[in-house]
Order: sequence, then structure tokens, then C-alpha cells
Amino acid sequence: MKILISHISDDITFFDFTGKKEDFNIPMLSKDVQVDISIYHSGGSYTSSGTIKTGFKLTCDRCLGKYDFDINTSFNVIFTSEEDTVKDDHLMLLSPQDVEINFMPYVRETLILNIPFKKLCSTECKGLCAKCGVNLNYELCSCKREQYDPRWNKLKELKKSLENAEE
Ligand SMILES: [Zn+2]
Ligand SMILES: [Zn+2]
Repeated sequence: MKILISHISDDITFFDFTGKKEDFNIPMLSKDVQVDISIYHSGGSYTSSGTIKTGFKLTCDRCLGKYDFDINTSFNVIFTSEEDTVKDDHLMLLSPQDVEINFMPYVRETLILNIPFKKLCSTECKGLCAKCGVNLNYELCSCKREQYDPRWNKLKELKKSLENAEE
């Protein structure tokens, strides 16, 4: 995922890369990574934008089942060797000796930021039975389930603290 700086002109140039999933060192990455980049040069800066497409194999937080999660994200990033440029998330520093721009670290970071914090195979996932462990998406069990809603806990606490206050 390297572009020779000498190949970048002040006209927009397009590049595309396919990164092998093994090279990213992200265990849940399940597909090779397609990266399309357009880039142009102005002053000491290289302004690029593009898209990253790949997929993750994730484990659902609720039912522990594996599911596919596709990534199709766009990015804008400026590579620059001008140290005094304003610090920004979308700025990567080049050293004046660099003869090429390597997109790999930026793409990897972007992928990691795109791993969802809450992993759910579906918003409707019923999860596992807390008592017998059956996957409730596929099976029913006869365990008695209390409708558990954390909001009730808050109410109970509030009630308790009110009662204590009265004493
Ligand atoms: Zn699930
Ligand atoms: Zn059960």
C-alpha cells in the first residue's frame, strides 16, 4: 500500500490496492482489504481520500455466535512534511527523506476504529438463557425467565434511598 511520492502530481491520481488480511494483524479481519485512493500534491502536502472495503467476523456479545460485519468506509487524510501544520486527526507526518507514502498504518488504524464497540449479530438477538445456556434465537427452553429490565433496579434504589431519608 505504498505510493512513490514521485508518482503523485498536482492532478488527482487514482490508485487501488488489495491488502492481504493476514498482513493487518487484526484477528477478526475475515476478508482481504480493498483500498481505493485518490491523491494530489500541493506544496509539501499530499491530500488523499478514498474508500476501504473489507469484512470482519465478529462474536455476538449476547449469543456468542459468529457473524459477518462488512466495512465500507471512506477517509480523507493529508500526508505532510510541514511540521508546523495544525495538528489534526486526519494528518500524517512524512519525514522530508521519505520517497513513498505507506497507507498501511493509516488503513489499519481506520479498520480498528471501525470495529463496533457493541457487537450484536442482530438488534433482535435474544441471546443465551442465563440459566441453561440455550441459544434463544434457535431454541426455546422451559426456564422461568424474569423480565429483567435494569431500569427497575434504578427505581428500586431510588425508592430505598427515599425510604432511608424518611427514617
Ligand atoms: Zn447474537
Ligand atoms: Zn433456559
